[in-house]
Amino acid sequence: MPPKVAIFSDLDGTLLRHHDYTFADVEPLLQELRDRGIPLILASSKTRAEIEYYRKMMRLADPFIVENGSAIFVPQGYFQEACMRQWKAPFRSCDEYACLELGRPYDDLVQVLNEIRSEADISLIGFHEMDEDQIVRHTDLNQLQARLAARREYDEPFLILGRTSPAKMTNLKSLAAQRGCKIVQGGRFCHLTGRTDKGRAARILMRFYRAAQEIKTFIGLGDCENDLSLLESVDVPILMANPDGGFNAQVLRRIPYVRRAPAGPEGWMQSVTRFLQYQES
Ligand SMILES: [Mg+2]
Repeated sequence: MPPKVAIFSDLDGTLLRHHDYTFADVEPLLQELRDRGIPLILASSKTRAEIEYYRKMMRLADPFIVENGSAIFVPQGYFQEACMRQWKAPFRSCDEYACLELGRPYDDLVQVLNEIRSEADISLIGFHEMDEDQIVRHTDLNQLQARLAARREYDEPFLILGRTSPAKMTNLKSLAAQRGCKIVQGGRFCHLTGRTDKGRAARILMRFYRAAQEIKTFIGLGDCENDLSLLESVDVPILMANPDGGFNAQVLRRIPYVRRAPAGPEGWMQSVTRFLQYQES
């Protein structure tokens, strides 16, 4: 029997198409993963409400990571409690999940964003300042998805208005760091979060998977700077192309051995299918 594997995957631009958020013909492969008991853990900058929407459509029952590694949701009973206690991770019960919060509360982040933009003298618009129509315009989400995206708990996306210099951006990042926060670039927005990332959250889940399900190999798929920590944490990192066909330069620099795949769900299917076939051969 091939060694057991689990897959961590970003959504936007990775499992979902960048421009319309669809996942095309992935369903047969998702069915195969379900049949073979291969966990698919979604790790996105999206909110819990948005990820639950996609998990339902994809019929996934595995844990998931929200808002750039700010919280982990594990369905109750998925891992034995003793296993989770063993790692002293303070999960709390939250609806049908055990939840571990790693990020900063949203209201703190909004306050930090307001402080650092005036100190750095950068013109930007935060998600909290956009109404539903503006979110739709900036994201191409539909009205329902925009409503789910607005239910933010730990991550404030923002857009820089007009042009700004790299020096000003560096200053903005260091002002965020002085306040215990960080800024990463996603596919459309910059994101202000607490001191956490997708990689940190994934490494916590990997401990559980190794202990509870004897999973040996972890695959990770992502397309942007906010996936770098995830790709650095897994055994098999796969970098998806941008919509223009290029690859994120920062990820290539930091992980020269990263596997490259075409953009979006087509590339996702191709690379996961190839990996599974290679594993069987
Ligand atoms: Mg992405």
